[in-house]
Amino acid sequence: MKKKFTCIICPNSCEIEVEFNGRKIRNLKGNLCDKGADYVRKEISFPERGLTTSVRVRNGSLPLVSVKTSKPIPRNRIMDAMKEIRRLSVSAPVKVGDTLLENILGTGADLVATKNVDRR
Ligand code: SF4
Repeated sequence: MKKKFTCIICPNSCEIEVEFNGRKIRNLKGNLCDKGADYVRKEISFPERGLTTSVRVRNGSLPLVSVKTSKPIPRNRIMDAMKEIRRLSVSAPVKVGDTLLENILGTGADLVATKNVDRR
């Protein structure tokens, strides 16, 4: 199988062409450095994404607080994570860096606030 990836590791955004069979890479070209090869290997075998979204705040000066995962989570768990996050609401005040949800879906990633929201 052949596929093209755009490396997202740095602003060069190298277009990387890869031939692979299952998880075994047979040919890879277009990357300017080894980080691109590592990125493609991971995309083929175990793709992950950092998740950024928002969470409802009760009694806050704002109705929502922006959040992100403390580390990337498996791409195929993003939708399930979003369902869990949609059910979540927290009480104000919220401070940047507060952990609002621990170990999302057993991924080892926490959901962390990226904004301050004061009490109303
Ligand atoms: S392959 Fe290397 S140089 Fe190219 S975008 Fe990825 S990290 Fe940057």
